[in-house]
Amino acid sequence: MAKKDPWHSVKQNIYHNNTNCNTGNNIEKENIRQGTGGKPLCQECSRLS
Ligand SMILES: [Zn+2]
Repeated sequence: MAKKDPWHSVKQNIYHNNTNCNTGNNIEKENIRQGTGGKPLCQECSRLS
């Protein structure tokens, strides 16, 4: 199961939706927010999906 509800980091201008995304997995817990934040999808997530 790779797909997940979108999340993003307050430090990045992109959101993630794939649990295999390294960038998405490396976000520090205190910076994680649920949802897209109105940001574009991460390119790595886009490629993995
Ligand atoms: Zn990503």
